[in-house]
Amino acid sequence: MAEKTIQLLSMVPILRAAEESALQGKPAAVGAFNVNFFTQAVGILNGLKKAQGPGIIQASRGANKFQGGPDKISAMLLAAMKKTGHHLPVALHLDHGDEEQAKICIEKGFSSVMIDASKLELPENIALTKKIVEIAHGRGISVEGEYGKLAGVEEDIVYESTTYGDPFLVPYFFNETKADALAVAYGTSHGPNKGSKGGVEKLAISIMQKSYDGMKAYGQNRDHFLVSHGSSTVPKELVAEINQYGGNVKDAQGIPLHKIQEAVVAGVRKINIDTDLRLGITATFRKYFSEHKGVEDKSPDVLKPIKKSLDEQPGAIDPRDYLKTIDIELLRKDPAGTDLEEVMVLIEKRISDHVAMLVEKFGSAGLAGKVGQA
Ligand SMILES: [Zn+2]
Repeated sequence: MAEKTIQLLSMVPILRAAEESALQGKPAAVGAFNVNFFTQAVGILNGLKKAQGPGIIQASRGANKFQGGPDKISAMLLAAMKKTGHHLPVALHLDHGDEEQAKICIEKGFSSVMIDASKLELPENIALTKKIVEIAHGRGISVEGEYGKLAGVEEDIVYESTTYGDPFLVPYFFNETKADALAVAYGTSHGPNKGSKGGVEKLAISIMQKSYDGMKAYGQNRDHFLVSHGSSTVPKELVAEINQYGGNVKDAQGIPLHKIQEAVVAGVRKINIDTDLRLGITATFRKYFSEHKGVEDKSPDVLKPIKKSLDEQPGAIDPRDYLKTIDIELLRKDPAGTDLEEVMVLIEKRISDHVAMLVEKFGSAGLAGKVGQA
């Protein structure tokens, strides 16, 4: 029997499956999970498989830099899909791209890109987003824009407070740009501290509801979709675990799952999750080193620099902060047979369990088979 070819999809059919489910009375959104290394990709894929959900795997500008370019990321994801025999619908999406990076990712195997022109005034934002849409759509690649500004830390950009999107301009944005998806700032924030700066207490789910109502009124809702950024739940037990095993993460607060579910009911179809996975990976590394005393001494080039880096950065939650100390090649391939194998097995399990749980809660479990049917 011929092997099925692995193909990455545009976000459109994936998000449309969630919209069709919502129109039939079962509100749903698809999780978009950030990836930085091979086992993280395997964990996400296995979580999607457990829940039989379609999924979006995304790489930020930082992830592309970390792995040495978008071609490395797309090859890594395809290798992870091959290893896990993954044939459920998956998109590979650039998270928070600028014009240059979006263009490169379109060339280098991504099936979807975000152009984040939210720092520009609306007319300039629309013009730049439209420009990327014209390039991407010619190749069947989907585009996400951003409107309004989210508070929090996104890579190297820090916004102190939220600038909400105006829901009445959302249908206009879609109409002008023809973008497929739009991140509208409604009070979520990036990073692990969603409580203090523009976080949960400022959440305005009504912005999503009004945006969605407008999109429906203009008949846009089957082809255009709302995105919620900065939506990690930041599980308390993960933060406690990090701190129990030598970390020092303070004031961590996420978006409660029931709030995310309210946003899904209001019309959100894509939910970005990054921080939760970072926390799970960091907790696993710390616990592993604590429970396997001296394991790093047998691995001077791999485990030792990671352990040392973790010891030096108790507040670290971003795995890139301590994994950049080792040969990146090791993080791009199957860890079987390497010094990383033992800890990566634990990381895969933790990520896949969390992803499967979120897919279930977002309402997109079982939707994999519905993609492409509407
Ligand atoms: Zn974001």
